[in-house]
Amino acid sequence: MNPSTLTRHRWPLVAGAGALVIYALFFASSYDQRILTLSGIYVIMVLGYQFIFGHAGALSLAQGAFFGVGAYVTGILASKFGTGFVLTFPLSVAGASMLALIVAVPVLRLASHYFALATLALSQLLLLIAVNWEAVTGGANGLPGVPPISIGDWQATRGLPLLLFVWGLAVVAMLIARWQLRPARVAAFTVMRDTPLAVPAFGIDPGLLRLRAFLLSAAFGGAAGALFVHTNRVVSPETLGFGVMITCLTMTVVGGRFGILGAVIGALLLTHLPEWFRGLDEYYLVAVGVLLLAMVVFAPDGLASFFKFSGSTHTPISTPAQPGSTEYAPPVASGRPVLEASNMSRRYGGVQALDGVDLALGAGEIVGLIGPNGAGKTTLANIITGIARADTGNIRSAGLDLARATPTAIARHGVARTFQTPQLPDGLTVREAVETAAANAGDTANVRGAATAAEAIATCDLSDIADTRCGTLPHGLRRRVEIARALAGGPHLLVLDEPAAGLAPEEQAEIAQILRTLAGSGLAILVIDHNLEFLQPLATRLACLDAGRLIADGPRDDVLANDAVQAAYFGLVMPTSTSGVSA
Ligand code: ATP
Repeated sequence: MNPSTLTRHRWPLVAGAGALVIYALFFASSYDQRILTLSGIYVIMVLGYQFIFGHAGALSLAQGAFFGVGAYVTGILASKFGTGFVLTFPLSVAGASMLALIVAVPVLRLASHYFALATLALSQLLLLIAVNWEAVTGGANGLPGVPPISIGDWQATRGLPLLLFVWGLAVVAMLIARWQLRPARVAAFTVMRDTPLAVPAFGIDPGLLRLRAFLLSAAFGGAAGALFVHTNRVVSPETLGFGVMITCLTMTVVGGRFGILGAVIGALLLTHLPEWFRGLDEYYLVAVGVLLLAMVVFAPDGLASFFKFSGSTHTPISTPAQPGSTEYAPPVASGRPVLEASNMSRRYGGVQALDGVDLALGAGEIVGLIGPNGAGKTTLANIITGIARADTGNIRSAGLDLARATPTAIARHGVARTFQTPQLPDGLTVREAVETAAANAGDTANVRGAATAAEAIATCDLSDIADTRCGTLPHGLRRRVEIARALAGGPHLLVLDEPAAGLAPEEQAEIAQILRTLAGSGLAILVIDHNLEFLQPLATRLACLDAGRLIADGPRDDVLANDAVQAAYFGLVMPTSTSGVSA
């Protein structure tokens, strides 16, 4: 977006914010000020919810529970023990965060629907505790007599002081959210949402990223709950009710799942809509419902999306260095293999996908892995990169036991891969995708992060399209971008799963040339492909799998002349065809 567009979009917002401040300071009645105070509280809760629901893309139904925990921690300590705000507020934030940390281990591993159900169950459990643990929580009636916010001699009982204090904290929450959502992290979240399969290949730890989002959502929820009870001066099971969660979800969807503006619009609108429509008496709920539905239909990305810059957090991550020539020299003693796999076996139910496979790869070698469909080639690639585990055997690369390391650790160690279907985050530009992989590479590679990203882009001849979004690229370019992404962390071993599939001959030639250059720089490359027109001139060595067993491994021409290979592989294709083999 160019600066003039930005300015044009920003003016209505600046004017709107100014009008709101003037209204709050000079025209709002004490009731209006109370509604505005509640809006500020909800802004904090929604900002937190955006981390897990928007950025991490996980439907958490626990935000109401975190709000309630914050409310009860403050409510109990303040009303029963007279503890002051200076202590109760951080304890409310810590209480909600602790709960999130405790439930994160079992809950965050769950896939989408199960995650939603588990978080819903957590809310219901807490609600039951609040209602039934009468001695502590006051039961269904809750605990009255929560004192107002006081810091030293200063008190924010109600009206303007409370309103300004709450919005002051909302601004602090906005600053924390901005700090947490720096471009590199937003890009990592985008990768996690757009290409879950390839997250480890980017060097991103999906578990840690999700945990961070969950903890932040809980901390913000707890803070909002604490402020809520000081505003209402009573804590009751309603603060843990599903209604709070639905309100938060609706605000986030209507305002926008990303960005401060989305949280502010959603919170202001949802707290004021019932007030504006109250004159319709018993029909007001219908009117509010219809309006919300219309908003969701006409602004599916939230009302903030009308102000385009609000969601455009994808600024370039770094200033790329000048392309140079990276040495992909492996961190192994000269002459030692970069990959050593022995006796690898893997069974899926009744299928023996791999059966006692031995394979070694040296620096600068390009090894072609061939075999009919279902021979076990992808299974081997998955085992090398940690996506699948072998039942038996040893596998090491440059000092790392690949059988025990996580896929993210393996990628960070310098074992890169591409996928049969290119896995790229549609929402990022080529530069952002490659830089994200560079930024998340291991410590050693990280030192040269941005330079490696720029070099990878140049090596794959992508400089002209570096600022194009991955989602708009044709298939051939997506394959090259994926190779650039794989190179960005400075790997010593590259595993490519059918890199020529679906490419025109000239595109295949471009990829082959890139791979030759990389091998010349010391990179060990394992290329899985059926296409012998592509592989034959490229690979220095061929290995052939059949029904999970390695039936040949050696110089290209010897393997192709091998009887077992001829029977297993060429027996399945027309003798005249050398490409597009299919079984
Ligand atoms: P293709 O050339 O068609 O990609 P491939 O040589 O890569 O085949 P694999 O994908 O490794 O073969 O599959 C080897 C065997 O293991 C196949 O019979 C496949 O159905 C089976 N298999 C692979 N992954 C799984 C899985 N996750 N669950 C069950 N069976 C699997």
